[in-house]
Order: sequence, then C-alpha cells, then structure tokens
Amino acid sequence: MSDCLFCKIAAGEIPSGKVYEDEVCYAFHDIAPQAPTHFLVIPKAHIGSVSEVSADNSGIVAHIFEVIAKLAKELNLDSYRVVSNIGEQAGQSVFHLHFHVLSGRDMTWPPG
Ligand code: AMP
Repeated sequence: MSDCLFCKIAAGEIPSGKVYEDEVCYAFHDIAPQAPTHFLVIPKAHIGSVSEVSADNSGIVAHIFEVIAKLAKELNLDSYRVVSNIGEQAGQSVFHLHFHVLSGRDMTWPPG
C-alpha cells in the first residue's frame, strides 16, 4: 500500500534496524522500545491487522510465528511476550499487521 509506513519499511524505502528478513516477512527494532528487547515482525504483503487474516493469508501468519520462535531461540529469549494490537482502542497506531516481541523485563498481567 503506497502510503503505509510499514510497507515502506519492509521495502527498504524508510530506514529501520533490521533484525531478520526473508521473502515473506521483515523484523526490525521498535523505534520506541517498551522493553530491553522489543522488535516487530511484519508481513511484506499489506494486511491491515489480525482482523484481515483469512484462509487466503493465514500461511503468512503461521510463517511469522515460526520466525518468531526461531529468532527467540537465536537471541536466547527464554521468556517473552508476543502482542498484536487490533484497532485504536487496543492501542494499534500503525495499520499494517505487526507482532511486537518484548523481552528482558518483568511484565504485568493483565496488561494496562
Ligand atoms: P502499535 O501501536 O501496536 O500499532 O505498534 C506500532 C509500533 O510501531 C509502535 O510500538 C511504534 O513505536 C512503532 N513504530 C512506529 N514507527 C516506527 C518506525 N519508523 N520504526 C520502527 N518502529 C516504529
């Protein structure tokens, strides 16, 4: 999508701190980290949020979770949280599907 920030980041048109990349997804450090480790994993294809996941694109999401597990092992994250906010009330500010991966500090439940 031409005016989507994360489409531009995935395409390399806007700089980011790359963590991982393959043909399906891109992972990069969050610009405003909320934990000592905080990166985002996004599909290269534009999907607005979890609300737009369907039988047609759920393979992308499955792949992203495989990548998250692989990166967590490589980074020695033995405890971490994966979050995806859907809609403004839940805190979504960028309307391109992304999974936050947070680690390295105590976390509360339920979230605020
Ligand atoms: P959310 O609020 O759940 O939609 O998450 C969007 C996340 O994107 C926030 O944690 C922001 O800090 C992060 N973010 C926004 N712009 C950038 C950017 N240019 N590079 C890296 N992270 C960003």
